[in-house]
Amino acid sequence: MLSIAEAERLIGQHLPCLPIESLPLAQCSGAVLRENIYSERDQPPFDRVVMDGIALDSAATREGMWRLRIQAVQAAGDPPLTLASRASCIEVMTGAVLPGGCDAVVPVEQISVADGEARLQEGSAVQPWQHVHRRGSDTQQGSLLLAAGTRLTAPEVAIAASAGAARIRVSHQPALAVISTGNELVEPGEALLPHQIRRSNVYGIIAALRCHGFQRVAEDHVRDDAQALRSRLRFHLDTHDVLILSGGVSAGRFDLVPRVLTELGARTIFHRVAQRPGRPLWFGIAPTGAAVFALPGNPVSTLVCLRRYVIPALFAAMGQGPVRPERIALAGKLEVTAELATFLPVRADVDDEGLAWAVPCPTNGSGDFVSLGGTEGFVELPPGPATLPRGFVTRLYRW
Ligand code: AMP
Ligand code: MG
Repeated sequence: MLSIAEAERLIGQHLPCLPIESLPLAQCSGAVLRENIYSERDQPPFDRVVMDGIALDSAATREGMWRLRIQAVQAAGDPPLTLASRASCIEVMTGAVLPGGCDAVVPVEQISVADGEARLQEGSAVQPWQHVHRRGSDTQQGSLLLAAGTRLTAPEVAIAASAGAARIRVSHQPALAVISTGNELVEPGEALLPHQIRRSNVYGIIAALRCHGFQRVAEDHVRDDAQALRSRLRFHLDTHDVLILSGGVSAGRFDLVPRVLTELGARTIFHRVAQRPGRPLWFGIAPTGAAVFALPGNPVSTLVCLRRYVIPALFAAMGQGPVRPERIALAGKLEVTAELATFLPVRADVDDEGLAWAVPCPTNGSGDFVSLGGTEGFVELPPGPATLPRGFVTRLYRW
């Protein structure tokens, strides 16, 4: 049976790359950049005043001039003035261009003003370039600011704006279809009979997708009926980039999903992974190019497989560069009995030093999703049997 790493590699190898679109910058948070962004100008683009105060020629103080005539006021956004003489100064505000002939700023708190003069404390040392953010000291014009493949969080969006980009090329958001299967499932809000259960997986899946920034999510429900499955899946394969199914992939008589997908021409890339929970996971590619993740229906398996495989795959399809999984240390010794790799739900406890430790929150089997409430995510543990010591460092996947 396939290992987790092999399954992950196969997904990466077969995944379609999503198209590029140009979006206004304000709509780009969370998107994956698909072009390089270069610096429009030096950064800062001019010698920038960083304190409210006076700009002066520092040589004046070295010559013992402690009273300087205030020549003018220059605010941020004003074109730069030029100092008339060394005996003068110019009142400046944070963000102003350093006036010509000046090489330093003395903060307003360190001067007194009277009779049109700024008075410095006698003997105070004024260093050349103090309180000046020198032109080009952060980046040079034309230097690479953001590389294609970067996921855009707040700083990156601000950087793109600073480079003058009104629109940028990012990955198109994938059109996702989340589809539950099963005759036993009843929608929340509707009356249910004792032998039925709530259709909860779809809500968990959609919540996870939205939390990770995916907005184009359609949903559907199909009964365990080959004909119904065929027609609904055909429709979704034609209209979506990625299908995320829940249920119907195990070995039961009514687990029809892999068979129907195959009948629709989908190529099975793998079925079953050496992991617990989530062993029956199915992944394939349809003739339309749509990728299909058929997740086992047990609620813990569904959420674990979604987070472990589907969400990283969606970012990879959007062109995001490789991401190193987060790691965490186990808070206590742990006996691993399973011969398969295990995904174990955990709480992240923060100790007195502020370090997070993974505290296991085992579920009562893969059907017990109530135990997942309040967990941070899950850790990935190697196949056993083994005794993992306290402090054993392992991958953490946050929901
Ligand atoms: P299956 O993978 O279809 O064999 O389902 C495995 C178990 O998960 C069964 O007990 C199902 O009732 C349950 N299950 C399947 N789909 C859902 C769903 N959408 N919400 C909650 N439980 C589900
Ligand atoms: Mg089922």
